[in-house]
Amino acid sequence: MNYSCEALKLITEQKKEWAACGNGYASLSSVQVKTFQFDGYSIKVQYNPGRMTSTSAKVDPKSIKERKCFLCYNNLPKEQRGLDWKENYIILVNPFPIFPEHFTIPSKNHLPQEIKNSFKLLNELSYDLRERYTVFYNGPKCGASAPDHIHFQAGLKGFMPIEEEFETIVKKHGKVISEQNGLKVTGVDDGLRKFLAIESANSKEISDFFKKFLDMYSDSEEEPMLNVLSDFSGDMWRVVVFLRKKHRPGVYFAEGEERILLSPASVDVGGVCIVPQEKDFNRIDEGKISGVFKEVFISREELENLGEKLAKV
Ligand SMILES: [Zn+2]
Repeated sequence: MNYSCEALKLITEQKKEWAACGNGYASLSSVQVKTFQFDGYSIKVQYNPGRMTSTSAKVDPKSIKERKCFLCYNNLPKEQRGLDWKENYIILVNPFPIFPEHFTIPSKNHLPQEIKNSFKLLNELSYDLRERYTVFYNGPKCGASAPDHIHFQAGLKGFMPIEEEFETIVKKHGKVISEQNGLKVTGVDDGLRKFLAIESANSKEISDFFKKFLDMYSDSEEEPMLNVLSDFSGDMWRVVVFLRKKHRPGVYFAEGEERILLSPASVDVGGVCIVPQEKDFNRIDEGKISGVFKEVFISREELENLGEKLAKV
């Protein structure tokens, strides 16, 4: 089955038959966008009031326990239809979009968000959606608004600046960690973000490397803070693993004027920062973006240490 085609068909129909969904996508035509240039790459800021619920979502265990899970099949809006993917997943249209085509792909089972056992699936999904969409994962403590229910997301390819700028950024700011068996891993510090760029045509090589990375990187049972993008283009995967230290920056919790409602997850660190409030959109600048990013990523030193360890495996 051509999942890109089917997903496009699904979203086209859902916008017509489900008013809230149609309105969500119609509102995208009026979102405002600003673009800031950094050292060889750009970061956009999108003022998108429709994202307020997600940006301000309470994700502490108590709040999660007390709310009805919005990804469980029985709690979906009655107008929502989905596209089955593999045995246990369903491709759903996201009615509160960031992308002009935006999907959420939850499991049919209420199981916790976890990358260890779903990384392979993430890459299978990006392969199945390769004609049109990039797939991403937000860690349970790093941007997922449903940390209790495993899910991926997918959005139109090329929408996040990092996709077009990938090669430039990796070349300019990257340091190759290993290159063997058709797998290339680069550690990147572009001044704002720290990430691993994993490139290969072989999904098993990618999965094997990722497993080694996880074992080495996390010293507790808890999943390290990650956002992951997976894209299959040409004949290979490009996987970006953002290495985070913090979920939300200090300004998110500040009082009064200082407060900026920016809660970085995959799309934000992929280069499209979402702010649901107009006053934040008007005030945000290069300095504020840079401050937020530096705060929520690991340090240069931590990236270098990781690179050295990974080079030996
Ligand atoms: Zn659920």
